Amino acid sequence: MSFQLPAEFKSQPTPFYYYDLALLDQTLAALTAAARPGNFQVHYALKANSNLPILQRIQQAGLGADCVSGGEVQRALEAGFAPNHVVFAGVGKSDAEINRALAADIFCFNAESVPELQVLNELAAAQGRTARVALRINPNVDAHTHAYITTGLEANKFGISLSDLAGVVDGLDSLPNVELIGLHAHIGSQITELHVFANLSRKLNELQTWLEDRGHQLPHLNVGGGLGIDYQHPDTNPIPDFGAYFGMFEQHLVRRPSQQVHVELGRAVVAQAGTLVSRVLYVKESQQTRFAILDAGMTELIRPALYGSHHHIENISSQLPALAYDVVGPICESSDTFAKAVQLAETRRGDLVAIRSAGAYGEVMSSSYNLREKAEALYR
Ligand SMILES: *Cc1c(COP(=O)(O)O)cnc(C)c1O
Repeated sequence: MSFQLPAEFKSQPTPFYYYDLALLDQTLAALTAAARPGNFQVHYALKANSNLPILQRIQQAGLGADCVSGGEVQRALEAGFAPNHVVFAGVGKSDAEINRALAADIFCFNAESVPELQVLNELAAAQGRTARVALRINPNVDAHTHAYITTGLEANKFGISLSDLAGVVDGLDSLPNVELIGLHAHIGSQITELHVFANLSRKLNELQTWLEDRGHQLPHLNVGGGLGIDYQHPDTNPIPDFGAYFGMFEQHLVRRPSQQVHVELGRAVVAQAGTLVSRVLYVKESQQTRFAILDAGMTELIRPALYGSHHHIENISSQLPALAYDVVGPICESSDTFAKAVQLAETRRGDLVAIRSAGAYGEVMSSSYNLREKAEALYR
């Protein structure tokens, strides 16, 4: 099996993002079945892809929304997510963002520092409200993923470090407009070694017991997102193993009676449903290297340039035997390279190329660098 572009899109101006909504629906069905409604509450991390047609499907599948900016909170509400299904995380929430989220009466703020808790308390008091808060802890658990998308180590800017937690919890007594309802952790993204989630669970178990000893019962635990996808084999593994992911928490997280466990998945929900489709502008051969120069670049998909990440690439126009190509974009940066020395069916000017698994952290990270126009999103 290989990638099929719907026939009606073959003459579209390139580059464009193509979203396979049937695959998105299948992924959501697998996810909600594995979460067993009532057992895990799933929030979708909008930052992976915030296009309205995608959000609306995710909302209709019964997921909540995990937001990391005021703009995302607003987008989630526009897409139809109920305020009591919206959580707001982020290490640098502005006063304006907090005020709007308070006024919308969202379910929970994932708070990341003492000064943030103080601001939440002040702004909530001024509105005559109480801010429900989960403390985002930095559990110092290694996610075994790329350094730029590791978030749960002491060296990372995220969360409250374990050594500060006692002071933070004691300080809550002086914040009457903040209500502690849970613990939150998010240790990284594109996690494929699932035992990492067992380590996280054990850390949360210890913390929970420690908090209970101090008189804090927690109705909610939020274990974050981070489940990885198979960038190498998008056709054989289009849907992540959600059962194995939830199984780690079922096995290792000690849940109190009637306690709700929340997860926040982004990439695992949308990555495989998106493809960046581009046309070959030129094939340029030097003595050492054969370049396929595309009309898409790091402005449409920055992950290879930013993280050196792998995306499966196919020439969907050519049936010829394969040759090795460096696949590059038109942007004036040497890092504007999608892949080096990959095998593609022999490529000619005008061929269509599919860059797979681009549904997460693709379009949302696009830019207009070099004054490029925004690529269109097409759905089917
Ligand atoms: C980015 C993010 C997520 C989603 O991460 P994925 O790896 O895409 O699942 C979840 N929670 C928080 C707080 C995040 O910042």
